[in-house]
Amino acid sequence: MQWSIPVGTVKGTVIRIHLTFVLLLVWIGTTHYARGGRQDAIEGLLFIILLFACVLLHEFGHVFAARRYGIKTPDITLLPIGGVAQMERIPEKPSEELVVALAGPAVNVVIALVLALVLGGLPALGAGLNIEKPGVSLLERLAWVNVSLVLFNLIPAFPMDGGRVLRALLALRLGHARATRIAAGVGQVVAFALGAAGLFGNPVLIFIALFVYMGAASEGAAAGVREASRSLTAADAAVTRFEALSPTATIEDAVERLLRTSQHDFPVVDGAGRLRGVVTRTGMIGALRATGPGTPVLDVMRRDIPTVGTGQPLEDAVRLMQDGSLPAVGVVDTDGRLVGLVTPENLGELMMVQALRSKPPPRPASPPPGPSASPWTR
Ligand code: ZN
Repeated sequence: MQWSIPVGTVKGTVIRIHLTFVLLLVWIGTTHYARGGRQDAIEGLLFIILLFACVLLHEFGHVFAARRYGIKTPDITLLPIGGVAQMERIPEKPSEELVVALAGPAVNVVIALVLALVLGGLPALGAGLNIEKPGVSLLERLAWVNVSLVLFNLIPAFPMDGGRVLRALLALRLGHARATRIAAGVGQVVAFALGAAGLFGNPVLIFIALFVYMGAASEGAAAGVREASRSLTAADAAVTRFEALSPTATIEDAVERLLRTSQHDFPVVDGAGRLRGVVTRTGMIGALRATGPGTPVLDVMRRDIPTVGTGQPLEDAVRLMQDGSLPAVGVVDTDGRLVGLVTPENLGELMMVQALRSKPPPRPASPPPGPSASPWTR
């Protein structure tokens, strides 16, 4: 995630703090200072830091559960709205997704129970809900914060853990794709309910509703991509007509092709037909500025371009491109020669076509009401 600072590493997972989170700390510190002086500022900051320590432990619940199934988790980012554990992939077996999703809230249940033990029982609900009230001990507030974290995260909507729990439970019987569609739909209904509640009550709910709505929509789309990519091979989706550059080409040659074609990124292919790298448009422009048109493409190209075989499932290529940093994935034949490229753009087009194909054909068109939609008026 951009704008985040790494602050430490625990068992191979980097912990990052988003800059907006630092802003939150500054805001809490200054408002408390203005209200009650230094002591109040320290208490306010201590509470927020302990609260986010609980959020961090929650994320580590997910991380360690995912690791049990061999899923790597490169980092956890703390944002003002909570933590995000980035996983290499989401477990596909419903039972595994269920365990990974529940592991986070389970950590907060344990923390709340430990605090309740220490305090000799959970404090009255009023103490927990009124977290700004002075005189309520830090530990009492923290106990209730953990209870709220459990309840909030179990809201049955993506991107909350509750959405994943719901999907996993549905997927046990209905299969992944259908379960995701239903869970995404439920999530959107929940989002509307939260938004409506927000209009008449707490405005924070509107913000959460928006967050939930977007989460549901993007999860539904991602599942669609996965579903479609499973039934196709890499060769089905690859662009097979493309301009390539030879390893002796210069940036000038690349720019000439950029202007002449609609392609943005150009593979560098050697005499044996093997992919050596890809020159991107950004790379070309950077090189033009820095070292001029005579720069060899070999100095500019990205060398970290993975390849897949023509018969391999498209899903493998999609997985490689998941984090969005690759301009393309090469498709090679059995001799290792480059025969095509899978790019984010042509994947997007493919998904659009697949979505239209799976819909029933439209009824015969009747003329639209109102002003006619001639091509040049749009
Ligand atoms: Zn969680």
